[in-house]
Amino acid sequence: MVFDLPSQSCRIGSLQVTGSASSTIRNPATGEILACVPHLGAKEAALAVDAASSAFRSWSRGTAYDRAALLTRWADLIEDRYASLAELLTAEQGKPLKEAQRELRYGNSFVRWYAEEAKRVYGETIPSERADQRILILKQPLGVVAAITPWNFPVAMVLRKVAPALAAGCTVVLKPAPETPLSALQLVELAAQAGIPEGVLNIVTGPAEDIGAVWMADPRVRKVTFTGSTEVGRLLMSQSARTLKKLTLELGGNAAMIVCADADLARALSGSMFGKFRNAGQTCISVNRFLLHDHIAQSFTERFVEQVRSLRVGNGSDPSSDIGPLINEDGCNKVEDLVNDALRSGATLLLGGKRIKGTFFAPTVLADVTPSMRIAQEEIFGPVACLSTFNDDDTAIRTANDISHGLVHYVYTEQLSRAFRYSEELEAGMVGINGTAISCAHAPFGGIKQSGYGREGGHHGIDEFLQVKYVSIGIAS
Ligand code: ADP
Repeated sequence: MVFDLPSQSCRIGSLQVTGSASSTIRNPATGEILACVPHLGAKEAALAVDAASSAFRSWSRGTAYDRAALLTRWADLIEDRYASLAELLTAEQGKPLKEAQRELRYGNSFVRWYAEEAKRVYGETIPSERADQRILILKQPLGVVAAITPWNFPVAMVLRKVAPALAAGCTVVLKPAPETPLSALQLVELAAQAGIPEGVLNIVTGPAEDIGAVWMADPRVRKVTFTGSTEVGRLLMSQSARTLKKLTLELGGNAAMIVCADADLARALSGSMFGKFRNAGQTCISVNRFLLHDHIAQSFTERFVEQVRSLRVGNGSDPSSDIGPLINEDGCNKVEDLVNDALRSGATLLLGGKRIKGTFFAPTVLADVTPSMRIAQEEIFGPVACLSTFNDDDTAIRTANDISHGLVHYVYTEQLSRAFRYSEELEAGMVGINGTAISCAHAPFGGIKQSGYGREGGHHGIDEFLQVKYVSIGIAS
């Protein structure tokens, strides 16, 4: 497939930068070369901060209504190109076309939602104890934001970060994942076409360490918003400590799905398929561990295995594919390694268990997985479901919580009191009761523990890009 990709250059301020070297981007399903993107470095990273810093004054001083109008035009242009962007997304990332379409709609919903939320950045007035004083609280944009995004949702992660930042009045320097920069480059071009001024949104492709080091050290970068591994999150935190940046870190998870004895099993099954196999399991909110109550374990497992057996693995561009390839050889090796380790440690293989070809991994179901196995402790990021059983709520809660991460857990129960108990006692930034499709533009997404901090989505999401300023006004009493 040949894409019409006119500008394989990075928009930095008024420049289209190509640099002297480039990196090849390949389709993970076929190995085919899709495009080459600039291999930029420290110099261009600094240039991007210069551009974002220069643009900040006028962007932040414009009205929220002006910014909303531009964001809405951007969303319209993205929507006009849903079909071609979805094909590009599937080609660079591997996910089935229907999922790419869904990702575009989901990602763009953040642009539309934050275009409106820009108008609702309300301050406060606080009654003073003194008659000769008035107290105002202003909310102001932080300044230049560095946004660093992963490869699993190349469109949605860019839009989920950039839209609230721009709505708040911040300007952005963006580094997409090296595996999937093509859709990000297109989104930045569309922002320019929508009339978002030069320097407000800048993109730099190239070696992460070099670009990241410049941005973390630069005092003009006031905020970092990052989705990726805990290891890199920690590094960014330590690198940015010298300049005391505000951080939003979304660092992956290890979700448990707890299916109680009173669960609606049909609903739990459908939530399991989406919660486990979307994007071939390569999502941070993917179900890593299924905890099944003894009473329903057998019937759930039989029906689940049948549904998993019916999944079609293939090139994402084939409309009948449910599962595409894993992103690369390293990702596939890790999944293989975790499955083999679990089998050696006593897990039972019910389905799949191995790679099919290239980086396509067979949808896999393992039973008898115990909490101490590596596969239960580490984020799998592959189409592998790990089943185990429990017989009381205390044990399920303890097992779900007994991990280093705390992004999301899911619970299936028809009992209100039980739903409340799990919601309150599970250690996670999010809990899904009777559903796994929980992420949306209007609710706060994010984690606790080693999953990071800060929230994306909802009014909490725009606050991440704002600072509170207290103004005390003395007046004649
Ligand atoms: P994954 O293992 O899922 O690729 P990473 O945390 O390595 O997760 O990558 C997420 C994003 O962070 C990508 O854009 C990647 O290029 C970037 N990244 C990786 N290492 C660094 C670094 N040292 N500094 C800045 N960004 C980095």
